[in-house]
Amino acid sequence: MNPRLPPGLYIVATPIGNLSDLSQRAAATLAGCDVIAVEDTRVTAKLLAHIGAKRPMLPYHDHNADRVRPDLIARMRTEAVALVSDAGTPLISDPGYKLVRDARAAGVPVTTIPGASAAMAALTLAGLPTDRFLFLGFLPSKGGARASAIAEVAAIRATLVLYESGPRLGAALKALAEGLGPREAAVAREITKKFEETVTGTLAELADRYADAPPKGEIVIVVAPPGAPEAPAEADIEAALREAMTRLTPSRAAAEVAERLGVPRRQVYEKALALK
Ligand code: SAM
Repeated sequence: MNPRLPPGLYIVATPIGNLSDLSQRAAATLAGCDVIAVEDTRVTAKLLAHIGAKRPMLPYHDHNADRVRPDLIARMRTEAVALVSDAGTPLISDPGYKLVRDARAAGVPVTTIPGASAAMAALTLAGLPTDRFLFLGFLPSKGGARASAIAEVAAIRATLVLYESGPRLGAALKALAEGLGPREAAVAREITKKFEETVTGTLAELADRYADAPPKGEIVIVVAPPGAPEAPAEADIEAALREAMTRLTPSRAAAEVAERLGVPRRQVYEKALALK
């Protein structure tokens, strides 16, 4: 018999494929709570069976969340309410943030039981920089909206992490290659499951590979940050300076060109003096 948990909201991460990834604390929380808010009762029932627990479940998903949230918040005052999603960490491309927001507003204690998330797992597999990354969730499915979403992040100096489905993978990679240019990327599929694989290459290579061969299963795309901008050629600096010096003093021309081409001002000024 698991000890009863204090009242509040418990955010419980669950495995993304391998049931052994459920933490002991997650299992104890699920077994010891009063009710579990779930995306799909059938999926969570399997997890409960795996740990030998039986707890009441209450559906909480995109279609009923606004209606059931006030009751759930009221219950948290006297009961331990756990929130799970079908797989991984709730709130990450899954319902839950409004539940946490309203629980906090109501003064209800919120506890997280961290664990697997496909985004983090893919980052550890991709072999791309992890010092700065931007999680984009799912791209829009329509071409125009997808291209705009990609253009919005093209200049961001961070590794990008996206969720995608097999049937849409080829089109998404093609749009990423067109919008972001030649960047290294990884497609991590079925992480922690039997047919797990991670394929790396440039966006264009990956787009080619998957164009006519949509893979099965769940997918995360990881894309390298943009490379360092290329330094302008000496000839370009000189041409810009010659033009600027027809209008400005060498010092002002150097300042203008340095700013425009992103090169150190002293370097440009020395060139301006030599040209004078
Ligand atoms: N909350 C989950 C998490 O923390 O990862 C994500 C939920 S989101 C609705 C589902 C998407 O996550 C899938 O379409 C896929 O892109 C990604 N995903 C989930 N499990 C995965 C796995 N085992 N391997 C690769 N991607 C996975």
